[in-house]
Amino acid sequence: MNKGLLFVVSGPSGCGKGTVLAEILKDDRIFYSVSATTRSPRPGEADGVNYHFLTKERFEELIGQDGMLEYAEYCGNYYGTPRKPVEDMLSAGKHVILEIEVQGAMKIMEKCPEAVFIFILPPSLKELRRRLNKRGTETEDVIEKRLGEAAGEIKNACKYDYTLINGELSAAVDDLKAIIRAEELNVKNYPNYIDEVLENA
Ligand code: 5GP
Repeated sequence: MNKGLLFVVSGPSGCGKGTVLAEILKDDRIFYSVSATTRSPRPGEADGVNYHFLTKERFEELIGQDGMLEYAEYCGNYYGTPRKPVEDMLSAGKHVILEIEVQGAMKIMEKCPEAVFIFILPPSLKELRRRLNKRGTETEDVIEKRLGEAAGEIKNACKYDYTLINGELSAAVDDLKAIIRAEELNVKNYPNYIDEVLENA
């Protein structure tokens, strides 16, 4: 069986990554990697669904055991990708999506250069502020911190393979689906298709 493809999706907090990805994840060939974090759950978030919510001690223990494919500190908390589910799903032929911030994505670029890197942009910083305020899940303080990170994160977008703007949701979803399909058809990912055609004489 062919291995699945690894997709890394980044974008500043409030750009709507989660909403775009929720549509993509209706496709059951795609597995969403549930990250671990030391931040507190937001109202409505469930352990094991949105994140594995861990103490700082447990998180550091997992780092020590090489249990994280990557991890980073973002706005005072740890965030990381548990290694095993990602490796298992890729081996089982599923595509895996990591929704992670820029520092973590750079680590994946070193470790897994074959991964596909996608950056989701907001239409503008002004719109990003509006969305973060509207979401209402963070205090004013945290919103300012996240907006402070945003410009720096966006400057890294040029290091990714693809960028898309999340202005209108359905257009962003179509763009992301197009990227996934293009990578499935990319000869560098599945060159054995050519041999299969030739063998079937
Ligand atoms: P939030 O607190 O809004 O859920 O996430 C904050 C940032 O951390 C977002 O940019 C999100 O994509 C990123 N993030 C979530 N999980 C991971 C992870 O496993 N590793 C890294 N490096 N970043 C993550």
